Amino acid sequence: MYKFSLDDIESVVSGGKAVMVAEDGIVVAAVQEAIMSGRTATFYLTRTQFTAVNSWYWTPQMIKGTGLDPVSAEEKDRIQSELGIEETRLSYSNRIQCQCGRMYGAFEFMQQGMKEHGREAVQSIFKLKEVTVLRVNPRQEAVCPDCGTILRAPHYYCYWSYGCCRQPM
Ligand SMILES: [Zn+2]
Repeated sequence: MYKFSLDDIESVVSGGKAVMVAEDGIVVAAVQEAIMSGRTATFYLTRTQFTAVNSWYWTPQMIKGTGLDPVSAEEKDRIQSELGIEETRLSYSNRIQCQCGRMYGAFEFMQQGMKEHGREAVQSIFKLKEVTVLRVNPRQEAVCPDCGTILRAPHYYCYWSYGCCRQPM
């Protein structure tokens, strides 16, 4: 039997979103299809499903091709000390350089997320224990915190419980 109540589902669906429940293979195939076709969606996945998508998507060639860098210990420290986010288990991010010289990386991404959604919303994503969040082809752009330039270069993230996948170029 499913552990969720229909009330929970009603609160999501009445907000205009759908809930899909299926075997892992079907869910993973739906995520893959959305990534490859360039459609925008957010998936709340089990750890098993999230891992399956990530190991399919983040091949060594993909990590190399997207210019993904491991998030440094210094950047993790700044995220913890300046933004107050612990337990992010950041693994990789794409660092983009703005025309003004500012680097946009994991720290700036977290900072922008807090500015747009609030500290609690960002923290709550990283506090989820059983749920992972996968954003597929997000429309959101990276905004340089120094000069406000919209950085149009595709950017990628893969974290312990949060990730973004974009349609490969
Ligand atoms: Zn800038």
